Amino acid sequence: MNRITLEGKLLFATVIVAFLTLILTASALIPTYASYRSTQDNLLAVERFRQVLEAASRISAERGPANDIMAIEPGSSAPATQRLTVFRRISDLSLDALDEPPHVGLASSLSDLKTALAETRAQLVRARAAVDRVAATPLAERQPGDVQNAIGEMIGVIENFQHVVDWHVAAFTGGHSELTAPFLTGRMISDMREYGGRAASQIMGPIATRQPLRDSHITDASRTIGRLMELRRLMQGQKIVSDHDALSARLMKDIDTIFFGSGLELVKKLIAQGKISGDYSVSAVELTHDFVPTLQPLERLRAVFLDDVVKRYRSQHGAASYRLAVIGVVTACALAVLFALFRSIRLHMLNPLLTARRQIIALADGSPMGDLEAISKAPEMRSLFEALELLRGKLDERAEYEARLKMQAEKDGLTGVWNRRALEGFGNAPGEGGEDVCLMLVDIDHFKAVNDTYGHLTGDTVLIEIASLLQGAMRATDIVARYGGEEFAVLVSTSDLAASLDFAEELRRRIEAHVIRDAETGIDLSVTVSIGVASGTCGAGGWRQLIAAADEALYCAKKKGRNRSCVFGDEADRDIVENALVPFRARRSASL
Ligand code: GH3
Ligand code: MG
Ligand code: MG
Repeated sequence: MNRITLEGKLLFATVIVAFLTLILTASALIPTYASYRSTQDNLLAVERFRQVLEAASRISAERGPANDIMAIEPGSSAPATQRLTVFRRISDLSLDALDEPPHVGLASSLSDLKTALAETRAQLVRARAAVDRVAATPLAERQPGDVQNAIGEMIGVIENFQHVVDWHVAAFTGGHSELTAPFLTGRMISDMREYGGRAASQIMGPIATRQPLRDSHITDASRTIGRLMELRRLMQGQKIVSDHDALSARLMKDIDTIFFGSGLELVKKLIAQGKISGDYSVSAVELTHDFVPTLQPLERLRAVFLDDVVKRYRSQHGAASYRLAVIGVVTACALAVLFALFRSIRLHMLNPLLTARRQIIALADGSPMGDLEAISKAPEMRSLFEALELLRGKLDERAEYEARLKMQAEKDGLTGVWNRRALEGFGNAPGEGGEDVCLMLVDIDHFKAVNDTYGHLTGDTVLIEIASLLQGAMRATDIVARYGGEEFAVLVSTSDLAASLDFAEELRRRIEAHVIRDAETGIDLSVTVSIGVASGTCGAGGWRQLIAAADEALYCAKKKGRNRSCVFGDEADRDIVENALVPFRARRSASL
């Protein structure tokens, strides 16, 4: 773990936190999404069921104008024919709307639904043909059986359509048990509307032909009335409209007074009359006219109930969608904040720390630190980098001071050329075999007299001028040093002694020709120098020998009268050297 970088650890931690956040939000998101899906399914289901019951109601309603047209002379009433056409068109449209398959998960197969719809349509075609046949027959020739048969065919359409209703109830309540109650209630309301219409239709044939009721009519109508009474009992106390008891109660009251109290009572009265004779108190047209409006409260109940159910499921779905959106947004925000935090830690903490680390290492190594400007300016980090900047300044100052000290230690304070210590350093520098060089010792002639004549300060000026002149004549690789009081050493990186002698002579002539002005006194003066030249090698082995040789050559130059250059080892100078060494040798042998 220690080998993992800080950035790696940060990334790892961020991924873990992001993962945990996702798990946490998923535990809220998944059930919310499931509820969103389920409420969506429920909403689609109840909307579809409303369409189905609407179609059932339209088909039932078609019987009204069908009964009318079968009670009048063929072609005697254009409005009645027109009305039937309109009702048939509405039934067809409401059936067509069911051709589109429902969206929700299905327990039954779609082919069963298609078959049920096809059978309903086929039955509708048959029933309409029967109605049209009766309507085309002159009133006097119509048989009660024909009318009743046509009515029976129309009722058969609804019987067939029950398969469509059943299919939907099974498909929708299979996976969604909470839909069972509203579907059953919806179905009861729809059945009540159907049986309500059917009760009158079942006695319509005999009334239209003014015949007494046969036993079969009485049985059918009585059974229908019995079912209606049973449905009424089941419906009592049902809460039709959620959170709106008063509306439910009012709707049920209207059904009681208008349909059961008026419409159904009329049917019962006609049944009673038909049991005795064909002398009914109303004609078939009047029956339709009086009875059909009493079905209105049943229609209204169905519409209000289904609208309420759809509204309830729509609001449930709306709430689930809202919850899903809130959790989705919260999740997205949490992840965005996490990402921003990670980025901020990386940009404003980790990167600056890593940069500071690099800078401190660079400071310790003495390598360039790079630009600190580009670093994050978070307040806490800023003080760190300010401290680093301060440290860098101090270290720079110290390096400058050390360089100055080094300079002072190796440069001559008066003339600015290298001092003897530095020269010894160059001369004794370790190296394999040592470098071949020539050394010149340059000594100002009768310098003591300069001091004595013009004073010490003028003497200093002369030293400075000579040093500057020598330095100005050098190549980059040559070295000028103050070797003693008024004595300079010139170290040239060549082994060519003859060339070095020429160079020495060149220097000597330049010095001789150079006029030095004493600023204090305004006196112009010039000096000469004597130069001893020797060749040899640097390094521990050769340096002392080289110094001695150059010194010896200088001695010769002095001895030969000054203002000249001598080379070490010159045969012509041998006597001079030998004589000079006599007193030293005598002293040495005396001490032995
Ligand atoms: P020679 O021609 O034999 O070299 O004679 P000289 O007078 O140059 O040599 P000597 O060794 O007798 O004198 C050197 C003088 O240099 C003595 C000393 O006072 C002087 N001197 C040494 N260092 C300095 C210095 O820094 N400034 C000044 N003004 N004089 C110095
Ligand atoms: Mg001298
Ligand atoms: Mg000297």
